[in-house]
Amino acid sequence: MRIILIGPPGAGKGTQAESIKAKHPIAHISTGDMLRENVRSGTELGRKARVFMDAGQLVPDDLIIDMMRSRLRADDARSGFLLDGFPRTTSQAEALDRLLGEIGTDLDAVILLEVSDDTVVKRLTSRRVCSSCGAIYNLTVRPPKIDGVCDFCSSKVIQRDDDKESVIRNRLAVYHERTAPLVAYYEARGLLHRVDATSAKDSVLTYLETLRAKG
Ligand code: AMP
Repeated sequence: MRIILIGPPGAGKGTQAESIKAKHPIAHISTGDMLRENVRSGTELGRKARVFMDAGQLVPDDLIIDMMRSRLRADDARSGFLLDGFPRTTSQAEALDRLLGEIGTDLDAVILLEVSDDTVVKRLTSRRVCSSCGAIYNLTVRPPKIDGVCDFCSSKVIQRDDDKESVIRNRLAVYHERTAPLVAYYEARGLLHRVDATSAKDSVLTYLETLRAKG
């Protein structure tokens, strides 16, 4: 499987990817996670990216494309990958086509997670993440067992800087302006599948299994 997950921030790309990964051996490649790791470890890329991330803006295409060029060539991506948060602009999508051409592979499907802006704002303002292992919580539907403490590794559970409401509104505007045009890009190639991401946390997995069953 070589799949892209597209959707606004808070559509549940990370959560959907987790449920797919639990069933299928596939490299989950999240540019957001890779960037946050670079910020945490203080790399040059992390220092450059942080300013944009904190403001809810996209990190410049050239930095993202360089980062993905090496990631897609890694051994674990050979037998399949799930791209989460990339591509996010038309020029990233074109760069991805070139990168896949160099590796000699192609995409199987692009899954669009559909969810309203209001749902996104509600979800993201109550989202919390573990500062160490990255586990995702939601104060309304899935809070940590002990307030502020990760169930898995006991580290501190925090709110991402970019999950504050003003930043979320900005990220949504950026999504509609820069990323939504990818829907037409992949629809024209017959790769786009729409999945309602309002409720079920494994809706993409269920959808993929229906697709596979149909052959
Ligand atoms: P995410 O975890 O996917 O919501 O990404 C968090 C932030 O990382 C975004 O708001 C952007 O600032 C940055 N980011 C992640 N992926 C990309 C990308 N493909 N292109 C540009 N910026 C990105």
